[in-house]
Amino acid sequence: MTDAERSIFTRIADREIPADIVHETDSLIAFRDIAPQAPVHLLIVPKTERYANVVELAEGDPALLADIVSTAGRLAHEHTGGQFRLVFNTGAEAGQTVFHVHAHLLGGRLEEGTLA
Ligand code: 5GP
Repeated sequence: MTDAERSIFTRIADREIPADIVHETDSLIAFRDIAPQAPVHLLIVPKTERYANVVELAEGDPALLADIVSTAGRLAHEHTGGQFRLVFNTGAEAGQTVFHVHAHLLGGRLEEGTLA
């Protein structure tokens, strides 16, 4: 894969682009969204960029999807007191801009009109 083809999230995981990383394992990484839509807005991203969206991930590696969801629960306890929304934008018309599957973990009071 050429540099231009690697996703922005792979480049964050590889420390080529700075980000506020809050959690990392061999298989996934979590960091703060650069344009937060809620008081706490984390992105949880599998390190593989084989899956463009959550449906592909569910079909290709359900254990990795479960890992994302349980990681969201743990991070929500650390960052938001345990209550949260988990959003997977799927498709450009649904607002997806990065085609490397990722979960938005949103916590705290949501801004009006966002992601409803
Ligand atoms: P999508 O619209 O694909 O569901 O979400 C992509 C998210 O990635 C957006 O919320 C956007 O703010 C975030 N994002 C895009 N580029 C960067 C970046 O360079 N750093 C960080 N931390 N977040 C980014």
